[in-house]
Amino acid sequence: MSLTEQLRPARSATSPAEQVALETAATTRLLEAEGILDYSGHVSTRIPGRDAFTIQIGSTSRAEVSLEAMLVVDYDGKVLEGDGQPPSELPIHLEIFRARPDVQSVLHSHMELAIAFTMMEGVTLLPMRARASRWKSGIPVDPDPSHIKLPEQGRALAKTLGPHHAVLMRAHGLCLVAESVRALFIDAVHFKENAAAQMRVLQAGARPIPLTDAEIEKIERMEMRDWHIKKLWNYYVRKAIDEGILPPAWKDPLVPTKEMLKRDKMMK
Ligand SMILES: [Zn+2]
Repeated sequence: MSLTEQLRPARSATSPAEQVALETAATTRLLEAEGILDYSGHVSTRIPGRDAFTIQIGSTSRAEVSLEAMLVVDYDGKVLEGDGQPPSELPIHLEIFRARPDVQSVLHSHMELAIAFTMMEGVTLLPMRARASRWKSGIPVDPDPSHIKLPEQGRALAKTLGPHHAVLMRAHGLCLVAESVRALFIDAVHFKENAAAQMRVLQAGARPIPLTDAEIEKIERMEMRDWHIKKLWNYYVRKAIDEGILPPAWKDPLVPTKEMLKRDKMMK
């Protein structure tokens, strides 16, 4: 049975494969609503227990991705389940997943705000906002401005990404990587906030003052990443259901319960 057939009757997702497909579809719609995706860009997530990941059909509108639009693809790029073709920039996902076993989910976006930082002489995108401590190790820029359609381009991009959590792509876009698709969505929200903050400083004609190492260390001491992800995911999913961006039937499998939203400790 295809993933689509498995998923269609099971609106309240139950298996890990169903859950990641639903969360990846929801994340795509949420990112589109936040102006981080538009007519292109895509999200992929590894399927637990399988040598495969899920990604949308390339031609499906990012505002309308549903379970029926989610494919199961292996790490050679072969579509195992689903009825459609993956995005043409699939090598981005294949090569980052190959290079980074720690990464569970990958976003490729053409966010204009971030692209601007690849086109300004002497300007580098830096961790400015507190939540941008996530990118303390750096945000490298890949020099290839073309669409990533060949395995060697994907490998070069993955090499530029290295051990970091974000990579900009000159005059083209960016990739973010995270430990889950929910975390990836929250990171994307904060990545945009941080780029906007630095752009405002530059537009004011001022010199950006990024977070210092000491400030980052203090921020991280107070960080409750897992809870923060749950809190923001709850906010964005509920809002999107109210606004008709996500179907009401997705509420049960996506919205955290009150129990799940309890903080069990104030600090790690
Ligand atoms: Zn692209």
